[in-house]
Amino acid sequence: MINIFKSLKEIDKLMAKHNDYRDNCLNLIASENYINPVIRKYLDSDLVGRYGCYEGLEGEEREYTGNKYIKEIETKTQNLVKDIFKAKYCDLRPIGGHIAGVATVLALTDPDDLIMEVVLENWGHGLIEPMADTVEHFDRVFNVEAIPYKKNQTIDTKRFIKEIEEKSPKLIILGSSGMLFPEAVEEIAEAAKKVGAYLIHDSSHISGLIAGGVFPNPLEQGADAVFCSTHKSFPGPQGGIILSNSKDIMLKVNEVMPSLVTSHHINRLPALAAAILEMKKYGEKYGKQIIKNSKSLAKNLDKKGFKVLAKEEGFTESHLVLMDVSEFGGSYKTARKLEKSGILTSDDFGGPDREIRIGTAEITRRGLKEKDMNQVADFFERVLINQEDRQSVVGDLKAYLKKFDKNLYCIKK
Ligand SMILES: *Cc1c(COP(=O)(O)O)cnc(C)c1O
Repeated sequence: MINIFKSLKEIDKLMAKHNDYRDNCLNLIASENYINPVIRKYLDSDLVGRYGCYEGLEGEEREYTGNKYIKEIETKTQNLVKDIFKAKYCDLRPIGGHIAGVATVLALTDPDDLIMEVVLENWGHGLIEPMADTVEHFDRVFNVEAIPYKKNQTIDTKRFIKEIEEKSPKLIILGSSGMLFPEAVEEIAEAAKKVGAYLIHDSSHISGLIAGGVFPNPLEQGADAVFCSTHKSFPGPQGGIILSNSKDIMLKVNEVMPSLVTSHHINRLPALAAAILEMKKYGEKYGKQIIKNSKSLAKNLDKKGFKVLAKEEGFTESHLVLMDVSEFGGSYKTARKLEKSGILTSDDFGGPDREIRIGTAEITRRGLKEKDMNQVADFFERVLINQEDRQSVVGDLKAYLKKFDKNLYCIKK
């Protein structure tokens, strides 16, 4: 028998299973979020089957006919994005943070220019290096080096500034998937300026915290451009954004964009607009609670004897916590073990197999507060330290989560 869907009912059934499964998991994946059903509904519209292809900065000239209102939807969404991220220009065509980053890099570099980025070992997204490793064309034109990091997974700013002076990169990409604290963007921007390098910030993880005003906005700190996802700490539909105050940079981005994205999935835009309206209303409260929850979770895990990173620095100022799990068999094995008990975390995606990442955005939206983090840490203790039976943890977790079906910080119609 071929494993296919044979009817709509079968699709519905499997979707229902998925929904039930995820509702009963403790989702601590920092790159995911719970999206308000009111916002999700905006993904479903006539726009699902339409093209919004354009030329010119922010779509002045439409390539397609039938764009009479699409242009207005796009412009109003662009203006909301610029308003909340305090940028003069934006590009909403990238369908994810990754392609937004690739577009920015291609727009601002020439072959053989030196690019410095956060590498996988330090929870970098690995925008360029893994591409150069897998696609020979890229390997021939990109020249990449690692931004120096310290053991606690924060940038070694002093060394980095020295390396910028010595190596004179053309492009620097700050930001990672494991950002615990704001970087010294102002200082790094100054050093970049001296050698004529572009400073770009990959804010994919922290865009929701920036929108909520609880994390510094790299654009206001001197970054030349920012690219990010719209679905991690920012609780919107999956997508990507490029932001800058420089017209010159955005014209360059505009030039490369049609070679990377043609159908830009414009059904995302009303949902993105709705998510921004939600963040305008609740972003600050939501962001503050996320950070409180991260700090409290880190403290509680530390109390149980887990090796939480950056203890001296206060563990975290973001939506995530990093924990060294070498003693439990490494990052990959530990994340799989927790998954079996309904606790979803992230392993280090091909890094040194040392740390897991634990995010608090989704549980914050679910209604968990800092006093609840003791209980969350308790589940980690039961699975990893006490090696408790999987079934009993799954059952208790399910019962525990029942208390938190609230969807906080959600805009209503
Ligand atoms: C997730 C992530 C990306 C990629 O974003 P997508 O929206 O998944 O394409 C880029 N950079 C960092 C640091 C990320 O964590």
